[in-house]
Amino acid sequence: MRKLIFLLCLTLFSTAVLSAQQYDLVIEGGRVMDPETGLDAIRSVGIANGKIGRISAEPLSGRRVVHASGFIVAPGFIDLHQHGQELESQRVKAFDGVTTALEMEIGVPDVAMFLKSKEGRSLIHYGTTASHAAARALVFGSPLSPEIISPGAGIPEILPKSGPATNEPATPGQITKIQQRLRDELDAGALGVGMGIQYTPGATRLEIIDMFRLAAGRKVPVYTHVRSFGHTEPGSAIESVEEVIGAAAISGASLHIVHINSTCLLDSLECLSLIDGARARGLDVTTEAYPYIAGMTVLNSALFNPGWREKLGIDYSRLVLPDTGEHLTKERLEALHNSPVPQSVLIFANTQEMVDATIPNPLVMIASDGAAGHPRNAGTYSRIVAQYVREKKTLTLMEALRKMTLMPAQMLERSTPAGRHKGRLQEGADADVVVLDPATISDRATFEKPMEPSVGVRYLLVGGTVLIDEGKLVSDVFPGRAILVPRKDLR
Ligand SMILES: [Zn+2]
Repeated sequence: MRKLIFLLCLTLFSTAVLSAQQYDLVIEGGRVMDPETGLDAIRSVGIANGKIGRISAEPLSGRRVVHASGFIVAPGFIDLHQHGQELESQRVKAFDGVTTALEMEIGVPDVAMFLKSKEGRSLIHYGTTASHAAARALVFGSPLSPEIISPGAGIPEILPKSGPATNEPATPGQITKIQQRLRDELDAGALGVGMGIQYTPGATRLEIIDMFRLAAGRKVPVYTHVRSFGHTEPGSAIESVEEVIGAAAISGASLHIVHINSTCLLDSLECLSLIDGARARGLDVTTEAYPYIAGMTVLNSALFNPGWREKLGIDYSRLVLPDTGEHLTKERLEALHNSPVPQSVLIFANTQEMVDATIPNPLVMIASDGAAGHPRNAGTYSRIVAQYVREKKTLTLMEALRKMTLMPAQMLERSTPAGRHKGRLQEGADADVVVLDPATISDRATFEKPMEPSVGVRYLLVGGTVLIDEGKLVSDVFPGRAILVPRKDLR
């Protein structure tokens, strides 16, 4: 009995201590929204040691108190698909509310070098997949440069130039070596296998299935840009989505199909119905989209191998250089396709109607495919709130937040337990938090001025560190941390 009283006193005492706790930072009086629990109420949020310590209807005490009345307090946005990993891109991502931006579509040429280059120098959290395209280029004897920036392009060298390493089938011996390289890259901390099948058209169906088998064996997902776009058979977008759903079914690997809108174009809703059907049959298939009618890629890649015009159903003039606004001709395209220098190009191939029909679909999470040269780099997340929640009203704010926070965090959970602490505004979650003004948040990036930062993010916390303070970027803080498969999980 005495012991019980003692325990009771201890509990009362520790509760008193807790309620008197002074947090590092308190966000007071904002409308706190959490897509997982459905919490949508005025609360105070206490942050200590990089974590959300308390969410309370009562005021909390903090060394610093930020007043968020009239603002939304939500989990920081998670972008699974961000190519531009340099500081300029990270700055505009921060103004767009993004606290984590990962290179998952294709992966980087060298995972260890990538992680080392970012350590202590990243504004927001980062991570990557193991790159099938880079492993293939290495095995074919033309390795990609692990340097982050290639001259003349806004995109780091993640895409091999069209050549034998992209266009020829691999021998069984080469496939074994590609798999070994991917295993080593997963050992270095990669969060999955990234494939850009359209950029390695020489990879046979069996090679693709073998990569899925490897991912399944390591219990990580495959993130992929599928084999083709367009209606023309064989080789349509529908066939391409079927191919990877088939590989997922055969191997048991989780599958994430990137940018369903820019691959499936006018067949986007049909592609979504394929994914819906696969999920109804128990397969783990997910997808994402970005809210723009144009795509962007690199001209000397295999995407522009002969036949691209017939597949895409567009002419040369719909290809535009982001730096100069130049519309291409047959001669210019051929020269830039054959050049050793990667040059970014915008591809205007989708319609606003199809983008608007894709974004609200409940299967679709938001990911930017961002890199310098395209406004999606800077504007994707604000644009979702401004256009789809505030103007078109085809999404509620909670639905939009779910697509930008919880759904991508749940993708990360398939690779690492760290994902469980992301994408949530809950006690115990990582203090990656966006405080935004729902009345004014807007994207300002355009195809003419793609690096214009969004407006309306008042505060951004990355692991508890204030990165945007009263709408201004704080200088000389680098709170971004790697998201990795933990060492103890390595098999
Ligand atoms: Zn892509």
